Amino acid sequence: MRLIDKFGRPITDLRISITDRCNYKCVYCRTGNEGALYSDLPFADYLRIARVFASLGIKKVRITGGEPLLRQGVVKFVRELASLRNSLGEPLDLTLTTNGHLLEDLAMPLKAAGLRRVTVSMDAVDPERFARITRVQHGFENVLAGIRAAKRAGLEPVKVNCVLLRGFNEDQVPAFGQFARDEGVIVRFIEFMPLEEDRVWSPEIVVALKEILERMSTFRPLFEIPHEPSETARRYRFDDGIGEIGIIAPVSHPFCGHCSRVRVTSDGKIRTCLFSVWDHDLAGLMHRGASDDELIAFIHNVIQNKEQRHHIGEADFVPASRTMVHIGG
Ligand code: SAM
Repeated sequence: MRLIDKFGRPITDLRISITDRCNYKCVYCRTGNEGALYSDLPFADYLRIARVFASLGIKKVRITGGEPLLRQGVVKFVRELASLRNSLGEPLDLTLTTNGHLLEDLAMPLKAAGLRRVTVSMDAVDPERFARITRVQHGFENVLAGIRAAKRAGLEPVKVNCVLLRGFNEDQVPAFGQFARDEGVIVRFIEFMPLEEDRVWSPEIVVALKEILERMSTFRPLFEIPHEPSETARRYRFDDGIGEIGIIAPVSHPFCGHCSRVRVTSDGKIRTCLFSVWDHDLAGLMHRGASDDELIAFIHNVIQNKEQRHHIGEADFVPASRTMVHIGG
């Protein structure tokens, strides 16, 4: 019953977007408009989807969006997810990705409900730069408070994701090194991918792994440490062992061959790759009264056809049919 695609990749990692609304308008992600494009489902539907995927050997569920903490009822949803068991009888490894704006008050309740870890997005460690990127005033203080609350709540290790954009924040790399050490968080830099609403991506804007390492070496020497093949991030430690840095390099060092992920959008469509040019209407099937066995057959069929790899930067690249905020990062 396990999910394995036609290239032999086991699919063990489910990402569920619970809304495509977001309270930030990051320049590299959103056009700056307010609205959601797609609908949300009731939590009961996401729970059924998670239960069916769990029966197929999924081990890890990441709740994402849009901004998942905008959704009322997220704590109860985590509690319900925590009661599920996968086909091996194991509880799900529950994680959540957030911009951190609303995390301060929610960190403790989320932990108590069964969330294990949290990843917070933060693209600058300087408040003014942060506001320029997110296009929201005074967000930095909230996010910092959210990160600290997550640590206090034991949602560890807290990971902080930073997308680097040339001309915006590439000079923040050393400051993020200091931040990782001071705050006791894992800072992970992500190469900018062509998944933005404005379609402004160009290879020149991408700050690639090699340059990130060079910039960080002006701060302190870094050494690579082992990572699991299916982990997206390459991992590094500073020379004195204090502070961990990750680099997620889908553009310069694609890891599609080890991809273990499948995504469900806020409106219940399955996406087998961030760069899929179509999606698969699981919610439509559910709402037409499909049984669990029918959903399982559908999911197996969809997973079989998971894309082999992305084609970023190649002549035959076709933009994804949805942008990041409407997929779920
Ligand atoms: N709102 C939540 C957050 O801010 O983390 C979850 C959704 S957000 C779309 C998930 C992650 O995708 C964030 O870390 C964001 O920086 C990243 N992201 C958005 N657009 C991206 C792009 N074009 N390339 C790389 N990462 C991107």
